[in-house]
Amino acid sequence: MKKITHSNGYTSPPAYAALRIKAIQSLLIEKGIVSEEALNEVVDIYENKVGPHDGAKIIARAWTDVSFRKKLLDDGTQTLSELGMTGFEGAHVVFLENTSDIHNVVVCTLCSCYPWAVLGLPPAWFKAPQYRSRVVIEPRKVLEEFGTNIPDNKEIRVWDSTAEIRYIVIPERPEGTESLSSSELSCLITRDSMIGTRLAKSVRE
Ligand code: FE
Repeated sequence: MKKITHSNGYTSPPAYAALRIKAIQSLLIEKGIVSEEALNEVVDIYENKVGPHDGAKIIARAWTDVSFRKKLLDDGTQTLSELGMTGFEGAHVVFLENTSDIHNVVVCTLCSCYPWAVLGLPPAWFKAPQYRSRVVIEPRKVLEEFGTNIPDNKEIRVWDSTAEIRYIVIPERPEGTESLSSSELSCLITRDSMIGTRLAKSVRE
């Protein structure tokens, strides 16, 4: 657990939630319900192995392969499972298509449900009460604060994740990317563009 050291040399105690997690973890290990190795492995997977680069590869393929895109939109969960991308927090995934008329953005108003199996761990702001409460009330303004200006004539749809359904946005493919390879395309697809708070990067970026 990371401690914050102040300039006076004292360390601040861990947050209440962190202490509770530590207590629950210790009990589970003590009672033999989970092993420390198994817990470390789960943390390692979601911190270091699974991440937005996995989601980006899928979106890049959806940009270039029409039948794959259709399959992804028709049944995201099944398509991901065929790619071996299932598991924790990835049970039911719905892909949302950004178009010239519609921009999609994802939130979990209740807590922080997120497609871990495809995007790794959620960013801190995704779990923040300000984002969760404001994006449903004033999505256009919140997106502006992310640096994303959605034209007034474009509809913004906000999708509220639940314990059952997680959403992933397929951002619009930027102009001038016709000649790029799949790996070059996936570099344009950021974590935030798959949440919908930003657009995919342009070739100039
Ligand atoms: Fe949640």
